Amino acid sequence: MIQVTVWNEYRHEKTDEAVRKVYPEGIHQQIAAFLKEDNFTVRTATLDEPEHGLTKEVLSDTDVLIWWGHVAHQEVSDEIVERVHQRVLEGMGLVVLHSGHMSKIFMKLMGTSCDLKWREASENCRIWSVNPSHQIVEGIGEYIELEKEEMYGEHFDIPAPDELIFISWYPGGEVFRSGCTYRRGNGKIFYFQPGHETYPSYYNKDVQKVIKNSIRWCCPTRNVYPKYGHHEPLEKLGGIEA
Ligand code: ZN
Repeated sequence: MIQVTVWNEYRHEKTDEAVRKVYPEGIHQQIAAFLKEDNFTVRTATLDEPEHGLTKEVLSDTDVLIWWGHVAHQEVSDEIVERVHQRVLEGMGLVVLHSGHMSKIFMKLMGTSCDLKWREASENCRIWSVNPSHQIVEGIGEYIELEKEEMYGEHFDIPAPDELIFISWYPGGEVFRSGCTYRRGNGKIFYFQPGHETYPSYYNKDVQKVIKNSIRWCCPTRNVYPKYGHHEPLEKLGGIEA
């Protein structure tokens, strides 16, 4: 069983009626609900909990962390960001959703501004799969069509993805690299664009499938991870006294 922790800032849902209508229990609870339909062990964590719900115990018990944040990126403490960063380098998977592109943890892992163009205009979008043999698009057709999503447009200031999985098209003429994978240290990261708080994207079956697939893709392997630091020679070194 893959241990998933769904982290949500959980602010819009408390203050904005339009958001509460779409996600009455919070975005994290909707994501947790569809993940529980599959074979995942799911817990949730939110910003206003002690240590943002991301204690050392929770993180060491997490195979894959899902991250949704928007208005309160700066309220996430640097100490917790450092803790999550360390776990990613150790091998924990990280799925960063929608406006999480500007979260401290994603920006730290990317090393760039992660900025982009945006527009909230109830536009439809077409999310084209551009890596058809990839595990993340298993069960998905050539594209996912969403009736409403926020426009995110290029240029998206990220490092060149290790793998590009989706490119989105918007009616205004913009395009966006909406599904990208990265490896950092021993960890795997997937960024996925859908999920604006006033639109029901996390009820869309294809969006749900992509998130589930991405969890399976970025969960830690049973591989042997390297030990870093001083290393004893495996062979006898000529001329060097032990
Ligand atoms: Zn948004």
